[in-house]
Amino acid sequence: MPIIVQKYGGSSVADIEKIKNVARRVAKSRDAGNQMVVVVSAMGDTTDDLIALAKKITAHPSGREYDLLLSTGELVSCTLLAMALDSIGYRAVSLSGAQAGIKTDTEYNRAHILGIDPKRVVNELNAGNIVVVAGFQGITQDQDVTTLGRGGSDTTAIALAISLKAKECHIYTDVDGVFTADPRLVAEAHSLSEINYEEMLEMANCGARVMHPRAVELGQMYNMPILVACTFNEKPGTLIHGGKDMEVKNKVTGIAHDMDVAKIMIVGVPDRPGIASAIFEPLATAGISVDTIVQNASIENITDLTFTVAAGDLDKAMKVVMPIAESIKARDCISNSRLGKISIIGAGMQNTPGYAARMFTTLSEKNINIHLITTSEIRITCIVDDDRVSEAVRALHRAFELEKP
Ligand code: ADP
Ligand code: ASP
Ligand code: MG
Repeated sequence: MPIIVQKYGGSSVADIEKIKNVARRVAKSRDAGNQMVVVVSAMGDTTDDLIALAKKITAHPSGREYDLLLSTGELVSCTLLAMALDSIGYRAVSLSGAQAGIKTDTEYNRAHILGIDPKRVVNELNAGNIVVVAGFQGITQDQDVTTLGRGGSDTTAIALAISLKAKECHIYTDVDGVFTADPRLVAEAHSLSEINYEEMLEMANCGARVMHPRAVELGQMYNMPILVACTFNEKPGTLIHGGKDMEVKNKVTGIAHDMDVAKIMIVGVPDRPGIASAIFEPLATAGISVDTIVQNASIENITDLTFTVAAGDLDKAMKVVMPIAESIKARDCISNSRLGKISIIGAGMQNTPGYAARMFTTLSEKNINIHLITTSEIRITCIVDDDRVSEAVRALHRAFELEKP
């Protein structure tokens, strides 16, 4: 019997009626002759609520305690779904990430899956059970529970699908699929029928939270097609795949945005070997991801170094960077946490002139100032003030005619 892995996000299991709806959907796929593995996120805003509880006690909880706390959200939803399946006559067993054999490294809060030992899941499937797995979590070699980063249940699902050699992997969420832009922001955005891994990875890395970036990376690495569709209707959704047979369109596929960007600018930095590593090594050691990095051309061996981090990491980053800036005798160190980024993404932009110009012109027509610009072969990103991001996304969506399917 073919194996299908389905993942249901937080809003899909937000209350008991919704959990019952998921149980009916899973049962239908089981009736169609599939072995079912179901990954769930925590109910609704549970993870946010758990974080708020921890923050009431301490601003810096230990990684171990924090992750074990957060992992409980998914335990609630997976056990309730197993009960809901059982109550409509389908034998089901719930498993924590550890019980499902999901092994991770020890980076609490953003652990990487190192491997999966699928023995238990396979045994349960062979015994005729539907297997419901708690998403977003795994276990270290020392038996400590870890979590995979916000949105990480997607990654649990893809990793399980790969390890079980599943026929299909479905990500069910509260929107119809992957849209040309966040449908909450752009009313005219439409759901794409397909998108390739590279484009989806850029979208996810640039803030389109409909898919966890690491899940897309895994899908691409193992060539596992991913269907993103809606829990609440039967629309076909979006297939994320290798894209070999995709029609190459000379255009932008989608626009992603992220409101949560902070910039740090180290002014008057001596331009000599070793300076960048003196700054970025300690940031990496402190577990802070640096996104965009721009270094100005130096004048008389003095330059400015600007980079961005997630706004939530700004205080921590400044604590690391300030003493370094002082020790390398930089003139100043300035930060701004009120920034956002907008990215236009499309494989069809490769080697084609005109897209950057159109993006900059559109922003300038709206009088939106660009703080930083970065590009990849299939992406152009502008950092702008966070209160202009929504307007910018809507204007770009129109300028690149994305409302027309
Ligand atoms: P889940 O809880 O199901 O994992 P998420 O909240 O993580 O759901 O992701 C779904 C949300 O992602 C949507 O409600 C939507 O607002 C947002 N989103 C952002 N960009 C996009 C996009 N390009 N396409 C679809 N959804 C997007
Ligand atoms: N519950 C976790 C979160 O809210 C993981 C997930 O939903 O994928 O980030
Ligand atoms: Mg998600």
